[in-house]
Amino acid sequence: MISVHNEPQPTDLGDVRVANRAVVLRHVRVHAPCSRADIAARTGLNKATVSSLVSELIERRLVRETGLTENRIGRPATMLVLDGEPYAAVGMEIRADELVVVAVDLAGNRLLTWRRAFTPTDSPTDTVRVLATLARRAVARIVEQDRTVLGLTVGVPGLVDTTGAVPLATSLGWRDVALAAELRAALGDPEPGYPVSVDNEANLAALAEYRHGRHAGTPDLVHLTGGTGVGAGVISAGRLLRGGRGLAGEIGHLPLDPGGPVCACGRAGCVEAFVGLPAVARRLLPDTAEEGPVTDYLPELDRIQALARQGDPRVRAGLTEVGRRLGHAVSLVVNLVDPEVVLVGGHFAALSTWLLPPARQELAARAIAPDAGGLRLDASVLGATATALGGATAALAAIESGRLPAR
Ligand SMILES: [Zn+2]
Repeated sequence: MISVHNEPQPTDLGDVRVANRAVVLRHVRVHAPCSRADIAARTGLNKATVSSLVSELIERRLVRETGLTENRIGRPATMLVLDGEPYAAVGMEIRADELVVVAVDLAGNRLLTWRRAFTPTDSPTDTVRVLATLARRAVARIVEQDRTVLGLTVGVPGLVDTTGAVPLATSLGWRDVALAAELRAALGDPEPGYPVSVDNEANLAALAEYRHGRHAGTPDLVHLTGGTGVGAGVISAGRLLRGGRGLAGEIGHLPLDPGGPVCACGRAGCVEAFVGLPAVARRLLPDTAEEGPVTDYLPELDRIQALARQGDPRVRAGLTEVGRRLGHAVSLVVNLVDPEVVLVGGHFAALSTWLLPPARQELAARAIAPDAGGLRLDASVLGATATALGGATAALAAIESGRLPAR
């Protein structure tokens, strides 16, 4: 699993150096271009420590001097930026209808984005094989560019425990799949040579939001995934909220109304049964019968958008009702974890023009804090590759937490 969000507190001098290295890297990432003196002044680290850490980071090509200087009284200061070009990380997502691969360098620049149609079979082993082939191809592309792969993280639409196993992923038809272990075995001879992790799709989308989204850097942030399933990734005080076994965030199955429609999980009135994409399509377009992965509903989503734009009264009224249910669901999270920002993805983002105004009203009515505590409820702009981007971001986490890459 990802270690950065649970890194141990520093206990000896080596740990202190790791922690200080993380502070310097974070400062350069956020404030670049900046000088050694800026870093010392803004972080409280002494100049000798900063100088020694920066030399080491330059030597390992994590930071570089720009050649630019800042003119100030006294000596001009050499400006620093993140380098990280020799390093890359890969994120993947298994969806019920496609596989997504994203690779980024340490500075967050996208190196590749691939999407490949995919149909889950009865055998998770087949899926692991396809996933491994795709991962190997991405890694080969990165290695050709003279970069070192720091890690691979795969997002799954289901429960993922702390060992990277998947106890349940309904949309894939999976139960008790030891995905991380199987993927490592499929990639390695005997080891892949880089860490392989598995995480829940909504957690990774939240990480992508935290790093690359429109409210990047907000330490208390929630990303709600929209699609066939509905899930939440919760970042609290800058860390993913995972729960004891890694299973936190299953907002899709919070009950909104016990008299509501039956959910895919077998219970009645879950959030997903009201606002999941199949429920929205069925409600707004009564001729929709099919149940399937998100791509099966893309024509319906297009039709809903077209009818809403034309002002179709039935579709507009339906969207208002779905928006209210969405706002109700968001209010449950807001009352529980008090985020500053909630971002909605998938079909919620695609329909945000019509869903968010009633959702914000419902949220304001149901949140205990006046005006929902100033919470911002917005549409994500990261699109369909958010989870894979979050996976790549997660794989960079060890470096960002101050560990040096293996030589
Ligand atoms: Zn349910």
